[in-house]
Amino acid sequence: MYKINSSACPYCKNLNYKVLFPVTDMFGKTRQLSKCQNCKAEYLNPQPNTEELLQAYDDSYYGGEADDSKFEGLVERMIEYFRKKRANRVAKIIQYQGNVLDIGCGNGQFLAHLSEQGQIQIFGTEMPGNSARRAQKIPKLNLWIGELFDSPYGDNRFDAITLFHVFEHLVEPEAYLDWIYSHLKPDGHLVLSFPNIDSWQARFHKGQWLHLDPPRHLFFFERHPFIKLMQEKGFELKTELYFSIEQNPFGSFQSWSNRFHAKRELLFEHLKGNREYTKDNSKLSLSIEKLIYFAVSPALILSDAIASIFKKSATVEYTFRKI
Ligand SMILES: [Zn+2]
Repeated sequence: MYKINSSACPYCKNLNYKVLFPVTDMFGKTRQLSKCQNCKAEYLNPQPNTEELLQAYDDSYYGGEADDSKFEGLVERMIEYFRKKRANRVAKIIQYQGNVLDIGCGNGQFLAHLSEQGQIQIFGTEMPGNSARRAQKIPKLNLWIGELFDSPYGDNRFDAITLFHVFEHLVEPEAYLDWIYSHLKPDGHLVLSFPNIDSWQARFHKGQWLHLDPPRHLFFFERHPFIKLMQEKGFELKTELYFSIEQNPFGSFQSWSNRFHAKRELLFEHLKGNREYTKDNSKLSLSIEKLIYFAVSPALILSDAIASIFKKSATVEYTFRKI
């Protein structure tokens, strides 16, 4: 299953690439962001090996065992609000009825909200770990823990399939798209969100940009190449949403912060409660950074609103229809 050449494009396996800029990952290893000259994916080069991925997704990534969430109190409440908004959007797309599969469903809370929106049967997949253990507690959730390709679902099964900030983590993205296509009903919808590599944030901060999240984020697509490849797979673009108070203002702040620290994503890991990662930094200074973030966030929200007009926000949520 795992590719042999770690410099090959993770999407189309082409070896012809252009180097864009260096990226130092969370373990201090320097890689490059390369652009595939065939499918135009921008990807981490070399790609992390299996051992590095296991290390990147250890239990600290999913939050502590005892705690019921990945983030601390106030932040978790804000995330909960945005999850509900996402559930509202997806419920509306399927007209409040049908089967919905969320791939990489995390703790399952998005699906829990969705099931309250009408006659909606909820399905989720997640890899083994703390998130999956939390998702098991969601009533009425049909949960598959493990590889998507081993799941028991038949073709033409779902009215909608969703991937929220999951696609860029996939080792076999093209195989996922093919699986999704065959498992959607005709006219079914695919809703997926991921970082926008053509955003002002990405282009300005380059290797320091939060949403590169190396080595977990394996590849990115600009708008045009992505829509083109989706059309070739049989999907028609319905909507695209750029403005995101949940993702984009923090992305800007953390990217600036990365410029002043030897390690990347310190505030983000602090908010997740990853004490091991932040142990060399003073808790007080990270708490002060958090306060500064809340103070400047109105300005960051405004700048995201402007960026979204030009489709240059840091993240994007696409809705496609199977044709
Ligand atoms: Zn490619």
